Amino acid sequence: LIRFDGVTKRFGDHTVLDGLDFTVAPGKHVTLIGPSGSGKTTILRLLMTLLRPDEGTIKVAGDYLTHEERNGRLVPAGEKHTREVRKHIGMVFQQFNLFPNMRVLRNVMEAPVHVLGLGKDAARERARELLDLVGLGDRCDAYPTQLSGGQQQRVAIARALAMRPQVLLLDEVTSALDPELVAGVLDVLRDIAHTTDITMLCVTHEMSFARDISDDVLMFDAGRVIESGPPEKIFTEPEHERTREFLSAVL
Ligand code: ATP
Repeated sequence: LIRFDGVTKRFGDHTVLDGLDFTVAPGKHVTLIGPSGSGKTTILRLLMTLLRPDEGTIKVAGDYLTHEERNGRLVPAGEKHTREVRKHIGMVFQQFNLFPNMRVLRNVMEAPVHVLGLGKDAARERARELLDLVGLGDRCDAYPTQLSGGQQQRVAIARALAMRPQVLLLDEVTSALDPELVAGVLDVLRDIAHTTDITMLCVTHEMSFARDISDDVLMFDAGRVIESGPPEKIFTEPEHERTREFLSAVL
């Protein structure tokens, strides 16, 4: 469902991703781990089209995200094409980025109504179901500032799911939370991972969460995947010295 082919991204003369190839199959949950600065967030930002690669192609749900085909040739994607492909992708950020002036229910309804053109009643019903799913069915009328950070992050998860994306990108979603609020958010995500067929690509420093939900873990170093495999293998018998060093520092 996600395919990176030879993706290179540079900032000035710093090559952050270096000819990166990887795929995520439909319905799989893949976690990116690796030292700070190894390029994990850059991958998610490329998928959100907040950045464009310098070289290589990215496909999502069978379509090029970075390019479009015109007259049998691949050319850089235009705005309209990018917007269409990006509809398959939902993202939850470290900072929740809720609309502060809207109640919780409206935060979740907004994009389906304005981007997908869903009717208000249907959008409201979907929003209520999703808020129930994240355990906030009774807080629909609250404003974001009246909620804890963990609750706000759960609203952000519901909001991302409201667009019915095929892929959910999670960028260190618990790192801005007080420690006692982390478990509630991870429980919701575990639930979603185990009960839906959504494809997930996560960047996380929560290794026990990565172990629980991942089908595959990709270990990054210096813009490349140096090792990948099921969590049982990566966490218990890593092959690469850099993976061993990284895990001994974080576990
Ligand atoms: P962390 O775990 O700390 O979030 P990461 O693996 O997600 O790290 P990235 O955020 O992808 O790393 O950053 C990779 C490298 O690219 C870093 O060295 C960072 O300084 C650099 N970088 C990221 N964005 C930019 C930018 N807009 N301009 C210049 N350099 C950037």
